Amino acid sequence: MKEKTIRLTSLSREELNTLIVDDWGEKPFRAKQLWSWLYVKLVNDVSDMTDLSKLFRAKLEEVCQPLSPTVQSRQMSKDGTEKWLLSFTDGQQVETVYIPEEERGTLCVSSQVGCSLACPFCFTGTQKLVRNLTTSEIVEQVTFARSQVEARGQRLTNIVLMGMGEPLHNYAAVAKAVKIILDSSGLAIGTRKITLSTSGVVPKMVQAGYDLGINLAISLHSVRDDVRDQLVPINKKYNLAALRKGAKEYPLKGNRSITWEYVMLDGINDSPDDARMLVKYLKGIPSKVNLIPFNPWPGTPYKPSSAQKIEEFQNIVGNTGLVTVIRERRGEDIQAACGQLKGERESGDTSSVNS
Ligand code: SAH
Ligand code: SF4
Repeated sequence: MKEKTIRLTSLSREELNTLIVDDWGEKPFRAKQLWSWLYVKLVNDVSDMTDLSKLFRAKLEEVCQPLSPTVQSRQMSKDGTEKWLLSFTDGQQVETVYIPEEERGTLCVSSQVGCSLACPFCFTGTQKLVRNLTTSEIVEQVTFARSQVEARGQRLTNIVLMGMGEPLHNYAAVAKAVKIILDSSGLAIGTRKITLSTSGVVPKMVQAGYDLGINLAISLHSVRDDVRDQLVPINKKYNLAALRKGAKEYPLKGNRSITWEYVMLDGINDSPDDARMLVKYLKGIPSKVNLIPFNPWPGTPYKPSSAQKIEEFQNIVGNTGLVTVIRERRGEDIQAACGQLKGERESGDTSSVNS
């Protein structure tokens, strides 16, 4: 028996075409049918791809690895937010979170197992980097989740690369996955509907803008270098001035803007002065500010800012005309907020895992 060496979801549409047409000598429409099974009909079992000939299916089964991650656990929040702990062939696990809203459904996708950047307020940052995810592992979070939510009549319209890991430290795999997700004859999630969140890997950030044309969210958290050096240690490599320069160079299409994420930490970055300095820092950059209530986890030394402090901060920034939103807390009862993933099971507490 031949070795199953091909993973279909790691291939771009062009690569799939080359495989099926040039290497296997099949007609081009076979490649189209297969692409459509994978990304429109969201079927990942070759034996269910009924309009493919038996011979072709047998060949696919012979050389292609089975698709789709294994669900280790699934939790559903009271507010409809759903979190899956997914495991891949080597047993490594990541979390993927679906957040339904009235007009859209957003999937928060992971890019690495763990993270090397060790931001001290982030739970993922306390777990060392285990490995990068592959293109197919990123793509399959989307195909898996979309098939799940569509089966019950919900929609998956938006993607945020805000799960575990720093997407720009796994750029090649992330970029290829994004191109597969963008493909208009497949998943067809457009550039406006995909947002990459980075802690500020400046050179790759600008490159991503040119390569992919998607939205950018930057985890800022402070506009004082001494504070940001602590909160987002990559600031020691790319400081606030470098970050600002990179943000200005980021190619923004039409009337789009950069989203600045700012986690509100009590007594650390939440004073009126911090708010005024933030406004100054963002001057001249088309920007939206996303104030994130800190999501505490067991053992963290940080405390969330009070609602009043957050509102005061929002008023100072918002009154200058900058769009400033306080991120709604979603999935709190299942610890599903982006950036706070995969905590409970690792610390041994699985009591709230309900399936
Ligand atoms: N590594 C990327 C993307 C993943 S983190 C980045 O840092 O941008 C996604 C977002 O969640 C970041 O803005 C991060 O700062 C934030 N975050 C991490 N831990 C958090 C917590 N405990 N509470 C609130 N936001 C958190
Ligand atoms: Fe990594 Fe982002 Fe967490 Fe920092 S905030 S440790 S970059 S996942």
